[in-house]
Amino acid sequence: MHDDWVRQIDLELDGELSLTERAALARHLATCRHCAEARVSHLEMRVAFARSAGDPHARTVPRPRIRGRALAFWMATSLVAGAAAGWLGHSRWGGPGPGSLEATRAIFVAQ
Ligand SMILES: [Zn+2]
Repeated sequence: MHDDWVRQIDLELDGELSLTERAALARHLATCRHCAEARVSHLEMRVAFARSAGDPHARTVPRPRIRGRALAFWMATSLVAGAAAGWLGHSRWGGPGPGSLEATRAIFVAQ
């Protein structure tokens, strides 16, 4: 049930809620600490995104940048890439050595 409100919070921060919906959300936030805190952390997440985009004073964050699916995709991709590079480096050269650093760098360049 709170999940629905959290979805509404996201829409509100994107400026996509009607006045009626915003009123209902505000009413719920006034009585629900859980959702009020969710709203704060969603806002702080947007601040972090705006900052990383080099515009800490932005009023909104362009939607494509905050799509959860894209974020999850990039996090998964970098995790997999990091794990694969570590595993490759370890199995091929048996850990760090004078030659392996250069070789690891070559892998990153090749990717
Ligand atoms: Zn709630």
